[in-house]
Amino acid sequence: MLEEKLENKDIKPTAMRLLVLRQLVESGAAISLKSLEAKFERADKATLFRTLKTFEDKKLIHSIEDGTGSVKYALCEEGCECAPQDQHIHFHCVKCGETYCLTKSKIPQTHIPSGFKASSASMVYKGTCANCN
Ligand SMILES: [Zn+2]
Ligand SMILES: [Zn+2]
Ligand SMILES: [Zn+2]
Repeated sequence: MLEEKLENKDIKPTAMRLLVLRQLVESGAAISLKSLEAKFERADKATLFRTLKTFEDKKLIHSIEDGTGSVKYALCEEGCECAPQDQHIHFHCVKCGETYCLTKSKIPQTHIPSGFKASSASMVYKGTCANCN
């Protein structure tokens, strides 16, 4: 249930939030703000952006920098705290431009020198996706 997904993360289920969440759930790949705007032509851009920010702050979604210059967003897994050890590898298809979460492939833990404190980690593979191959 979409409402439940929001309530579990302490997010008040407004109509707009439910619509955006549905889009994220139904999309098999990560979504950029721009493509979200294209899907909700009548929605206010600032509202869409705020909705994504709220979702991100509440760890319902995570943002992905895939090197294309436009940040994309995808749903987090159940119980994700968005800490480095929760994060998975992303795959960016150079043909269709989609970016996918490889949720089964966690980012390998690495040694971080004492005094450094990691708050996030990202790893992006590039190539061609199953749809393009
Ligand atoms: Zn997360
Ligand atoms: Zn592709
Ligand atoms: Zn992801």
